[in-house]
Amino acid sequence: MLFGRKNPFSATDAFPLSDAVMEFDDSSSAMVRPARRALDSFGARPQPSSRQEWLATGALISLYTLALVVFWSLGMVDAETVGVLAAMIAAGCAVFWVVLYSGAVQKIRQRTLKLAIVTTALACMLGIFYLAPVTQILLTPFAFVAVSYGIFTVPRRTCLVLATGVLLAYALIVWLHYAQQQNDALLRLELMHLLALLVSLPAFIVLMGKVQRLYRSLYRASRKIKNIQEDAQRDPLVGCFNRRYVLAALEEQKQLADESGIPLCLAVLDLDHFKRINDELGHLGGDEVLRTFARVAQQGVRGGDVFGRYGGEEFLLIFPGTSLLPALNTCERIRAQVETYAWTGLLKGRVTVSMGVTQYVLGESVLEFFSRADTAMYMAKEGGRNQVVVEEPISKDDSQLSEPSAHAFL
Ligand code: GH3
Ligand code: MG
Ligand code: MG
Repeated sequence: MLFGRKNPFSATDAFPLSDAVMEFDDSSSAMVRPARRALDSFGARPQPSSRQEWLATGALISLYTLALVVFWSLGMVDAETVGVLAAMIAAGCAVFWVVLYSGAVQKIRQRTLKLAIVTTALACMLGIFYLAPVTQILLTPFAFVAVSYGIFTVPRRTCLVLATGVLLAYALIVWLHYAQQQNDALLRLELMHLLALLVSLPAFIVLMGKVQRLYRSLYRASRKIKNIQEDAQRDPLVGCFNRRYVLAALEEQKQLADESGIPLCLAVLDLDHFKRINDELGHLGGDEVLRTFARVAQQGVRGGDVFGRYGGEEFLLIFPGTSLLPALNTCERIRAQVETYAWTGLLKGRVTVSMGVTQYVLGESVLEFFSRADTAMYMAKEGGRNQVVVEEPISKDDSQLSEPSAHAFL
């Protein structure tokens, strides 16, 4: 799709926030833009990818495993503990894989998923701590890493409940270690670690709440900017691209064609006897016909084509990287779709459209290009309407030799 290669007209992320932030409640924007869904049908929105999430999760698991392997190579933990960790990771990955990809859970919220990942990670680390008390040195920093991983998605209150659970489990393991080993020195060390976690983990979560709020407001600001950008390119009545956008796209495509020499076509579309439609249905009914026409035409165009309202009942269709014949075929398809569409029975006549289509001649101005398509459209009107007229381009070198020729297709 040529237009998508370098598309300055598409909505861009003003702030490239992580997918995690997408989970925040965005009720404000839902209230501001109740009609967003309607506009969305004019262009697919990219879905956030979960691949980065999996990479982050895998990297954290690998780091902890690496640290434990180093402990093992230094003789501080036995091979069994490393084996238990490997089994836990394998079991955890299998469970998450089954839950996510087997269809066991149709739709799992990212918030729930992250909470489950963080809880599982903390539970595994506590299990390893129970088996090898020396790994308490790892538990403290990795507990912070695990909580940080979930903090932008999991609500702060849930994180605090989770931290309380970790501290209670930690205290239980300390008690179990003492009951099994009666080791006073180990008890003192573990209690000191517990105290350090007790004062720092909840404080960390509370402070991270401020970052959470900052992220949330950045996300909302980003959404608002996106909405404003989108509104600036959409026609408020019919929802397709507006005159400003489509003319900017035409200028852009002309420059691309000049640079690369690839073909470019333009069609001007004008609904036939629209005054009569307004007279029959009233202006509100006429508006509805315009909306339906835009939808029907939009369905007929290909992915890279740019369709927009020029004004009134006139529309433009740009065909980047397309020569005259395929452009003509698309126009003819749209013309036929409009003609055969089941319009409201309140209309006495049919709704039809006249079109003029032409190909860009390298080096000419946008005005010349547009005028040729517009002239072809008027020829379609003169030829009896409900037809597509092609104004064949004449290269500047040939213009001395022959006159422009036009063909009507019905
Ligand atoms: P032709 O086949 O020659 O194009 O005839 P026409 O009646 O379509 O041509 P003309 O350009 O004279 O009339 C266009 C009409 O479209 C006039 C105007 O009232 C109406 N119109 C323009 N914008 C809108 C709009 O947003 N909503 C409605 N309902 N009507 C509109
Ligand atoms: Mg008109
Ligand atoms: Mg008209």
